[in-house]
Amino acid sequence: MARSDVQVAVIGGGAAGIGAARRLREAGLTALIVEARSRPGGRAWTVEAGSFPLDLGCGWLHSAERNPWTSIAEAQGRTIDRTPPPWSRASAQPGLSAAESGELRAALWALHERADALSESEPDRPLADLLERGGKWNALLDAVSGYYSGAALERVSARDLGRYGDDGVNWRIAQGYGATIVAHGAGLDFAFDSVATRIDHGGRRLRIETARGAIEADAAIVTLPSAIIAANEALFAPALPAKTRAAAGLPLGHDDKLFLSLADAEGFEPDTRVFGKLNSVATAGYQFRPLGRPMIECYFGGALAADLEAGGEAAFFDFARGELIGLYGGDFARRIAPLAFHGWGDDPFARGAYSYALPGRADDRAALAEPVENRLFFAGEACSRADYSTAHGAYLTGVAAAEQAIAALAPARAMG
Ligand SMILES: Cc1cc2nc3c(=O)[nH]c(=O)nc-3n(C[C@H](O)[C@H](O)[C@H](O)COP(=O)(O)OP(=O)(O)OC[C@H]3O[C@@H](n4cnc5c(N)ncnc54)[C@H](O)[C@@H]3O)c2cc1C
Repeated sequence: MARSDVQVAVIGGGAAGIGAARRLREAGLTALIVEARSRPGGRAWTVEAGSFPLDLGCGWLHSAERNPWTSIAEAQGRTIDRTPPPWSRASAQPGLSAAESGELRAALWALHERADALSESEPDRPLADLLERGGKWNALLDAVSGYYSGAALERVSARDLGRYGDDGVNWRIAQGYGATIVAHGAGLDFAFDSVATRIDHGGRRLRIETARGAIEADAAIVTLPSAIIAANEALFAPALPAKTRAAAGLPLGHDDKLFLSLADAEGFEPDTRVFGKLNSVATAGYQFRPLGRPMIECYFGGALAADLEAGGEAAFFDFARGELIGLYGGDFARRIAPLAFHGWGDDPFARGAYSYALPGRADDRAALAEPVENRLFFAGEACSRADYSTAHGAYLTGVAAAEQAIAALAPARAMG
């Protein structure tokens, strides 16, 4: 039976799992993607709302010139939008002069430079330690850490941020990043609605137990979000405490998007961003007219996103409406309405948005990626040393894990 007996079981059908399974198929191996949801893509998810494709998960092709999804999207005939992102340009922030806007960007740049300068022989430390003491923009830098890492600077490893490889080129796919990733998985073999509850590596073959029956495989590529591996000590049998520990050092931060329709949108420049407040960590970022569309993309991060998740979409909308009224006056409320939202922290198959490393735990990425018994391989954004938290990082780790599985199975295949 093809579906219960395969050469490689790929656990999780997001960017990493799809990248891995495509590579395995090219190499002539049978691969089944075991996916808990009833849709592919995981944290890559484009939905149709207000007649537009909206990305509730990944939206930016970070490091776009070397990002493999750029050429995949082009090969799919999609439109790459090369407008520079709002965060790299002067802000249209009410109450902020051009000089202050420049100061803010310089303060953010300086923080990242200090993280980059941390040498590998120095002890790691929380990013908050690298803030300028009493710096004018510190609260806002912490809010931005919420958008970047999904957590406050105090919780994030400076070493890990220093290792992040950002080429500074950020593009978008007009038809959706999620849609591109999902299309790349077309024709692959998926078992949907199949929550993997146990990966038994005690026997001659691997046995993956799912809500829809067991699957036997010679090798497996585990691409589950780190938060899911950390929360489930019984996932592997026998247990793999080193994996559980490594995953726990790489929690998923909180980040959520809310899209609002915007009446009379022409009054705003396309692709401009403002913060709800300039002096508070608990503030959202508002991107006006993304890709020129009549809407606002509201971005919530860190503790603010975590707190609002308890109240669902209504809580996010109330918060955004309050901040936008604060910026543009009471009449503004009549111009906006909710279009699309997803709370990733509440999502049982994600448990957060993307991984950050706790202070002292940057090396957990390599520990999580380390193969076990040359037949259990690991991929997913949290396994990437320099492209973690991204869809291209996920893809690259998926392909790398597939290469490891191909090499591991080669002797048995050669024997026929
Ligand atoms: C709000 C938000 C904004 C983002 N913005 C960007 C961006 O602009 N650019 C960028 O590059 N990245 C961005 N990201 C991050 C990017 O989406 C992720 O890094 C990437 O999609 C992760 O891919 P993955 O394959 O590692 O994990 P996932 O996509 O999470 O795939 C793992 C899969 O495992 C499945 N699963 C979970 N538990 C089980 C189980 N027990 N059994 C079987 N299957 C299971 C899940 O359903 C999922 O499909 C964003 C994410 C969010 C949430």
